[in-house]
Formats: sequence, structure tokens, C-alpha cells
Amino acid sequence: MQTTPRKRFGQHFLHDLGIIDQIVRAIDPQPEDTLIEIGPGLSALTRPLLWRVPKLTAIEIDRDLVAQLRQHPDLQSLQIIQADVLEVDFKQFGDRLRIVGNLPYNISSPLLFHLLQYVDQVQDQHFMLQKEMVERMAAQPGSRHYGRLSVMLQAKYRMMPLFDVPPEAFDPPPNVMSAVVRMRPLSAKRRVDPKNEAVFAQVVARAFSQRRKMLRRVLADWQQWIDWQALDAKDSLRAEQLSVAQFIALSDQLTPHLA
Ligand code: SAM
Repeated sequence: MQTTPRKRFGQHFLHDLGIIDQIVRAIDPQPEDTLIEIGPGLSALTRPLLWRVPKLTAIEIDRDLVAQLRQHPDLQSLQIIQADVLEVDFKQFGDRLRIVGNLPYNISSPLLFHLLQYVDQVQDQHFMLQKEMVERMAAQPGSRHYGRLSVMLQAKYRMMPLFDVPPEAFDPPPNVMSAVVRMRPLSAKRRVDPKNEAVFAQVVARAFSQRRKMLRRVLADWQQWIDWQALDAKDSLRAEQLSVAQFIALSDQLTPHLA
């Protein structure tokens, strides 16, 4: 298969066989899995995945690549959906989904938020992303990488950064280091859902809108409804010092007033 990589679709094709093998082993596909690949590209991951599972669904935006994938003799059992993944409704795929992909870096953040709404249908997700993005996803309170993305994702998933991938593994090479991350939805026992997801998202976004400022200033309009003591926190804290559980408790305090 041949194509000129398209920048607007974030196309960096994996060609390092060692890395491809490492990713497939990390996914550890089983014949009964419902596997969905985002952005199969030239099928670097798609083919080795199809050696291990009888069926695979792939979502690809690039019409020319889709046409090539459809012709490929090794990919006859591949179900290809030609679409922008941000517009795909994952409800149609059923439960216990295993979602994988070497993601287009230009849409990785909106994509992770898009997939958040299907978390209850997911078994796990394995993604290649910019290393800096993986650091933000997995960051703990107090770290400079800890922010809105960390809180929103860690409220629903356990994040496991697996290994780094250097630019030379791709053609063309990106300007940054990449990394592979495993995301597993938290078990019912470990997950505490906010009373209102929209309020939670609003509170987290507002708190991190000025991360250097004390929360008492950033959340000044809502101050009258916040019981800092019940949160086991001081109002002199900044957003980056509040745990995910504290953000959920804060949003629950504010829900009667903001919902
Ligand atoms: N999986 C291939 C590999 O590892 O070599 C290609 C990875 S490349 C980084 C990202 C792929 O996602 C490209 O094939 C690109 O066309 C596709 N893509 C980009 N934006 C997309 C979108 N919004 N929806 C679906 N696929 C997209």
C-alpha cells in the first residue's frame, strides 16, 4: 500500500516491527474480543491484530486509505467504517469493547472526551499518543502535568502508561516522543460518580482555567456554597492540589446550585 501522508489527518505511519509487536502484545487480543481500531492507516497494527482475532472493526476518515484497505487481500475480514471517529456513535458496537489505535495527535484530546461517554461499554483502551499527553492523562495531584484532562479521565479510568516510542518508529517521524497507554474503566467498587456529570465538568474546567490562582479566587462566585472543611481542603489551595475525589465532592456540593 502506498500513500502520501496527509498532515491534516495526523498521519504518521508506524513501520518499526519491534514496536508494532510490542503494542500488539500489550493489547493481547483474544479471539472472542470485540476490537475496534481507530485510524488503521496503512494497516501496520490492523494486520497483526487480524492474525489473532477473527473480526475487527476499523474507523478511518481518509477515503483513499479506506479504498486501499478494502482491496487488501489480507484484510477481507476487516469491517471498515469510513467516518470521522468524533462523529461515530460507539453504542452500535455493543459491550466489552476493546478500543485501540495509534491516534491522530491533532484530535486526541477531543477523542478521549468523546469516548468518555461510552466508558460503561468499554473493557479497555490502548492508545499511542504524544508522550506529553500520556503524562497529562496519568498525572497525580501536585504534578505540573495534572490538569483538567487528568481529573476528567481518572474519574472513570485507571491509567497505565506502558512504554515510550521514539519518532524514528514512524514515517514521517513526528516532532515529539510518543507513548502507549492502557486505560481501563474503574470497577464499580472504585468508581464514585458525581451527582451531575455536567456540573462536574464545569467545576473542573473552571478550577483549572487559572491554575496558578488560589481556588477561593477562581471559584469566588461559588464560594458561599463551598464547605472547604467537609472537603478536607483549604481554600488557599490551587486546582492542581485537589484530588479527583475532592473534585467530585466539590462538584456534589455545588450541584444543587449549578444544575
Ligand atoms: N494505525 C496506523 C499506523 O499505526 O501506522 C496509522 C496511524 S496515523 C497516526 C492516524 C490515522 O488516523 C491515519 O490513518 C488517519 O487518516 C486517521 N485519522 C485521522 N483523523 C481521523 C478521524 N477524525 N477519524 C478517523 N480516523 C482518523
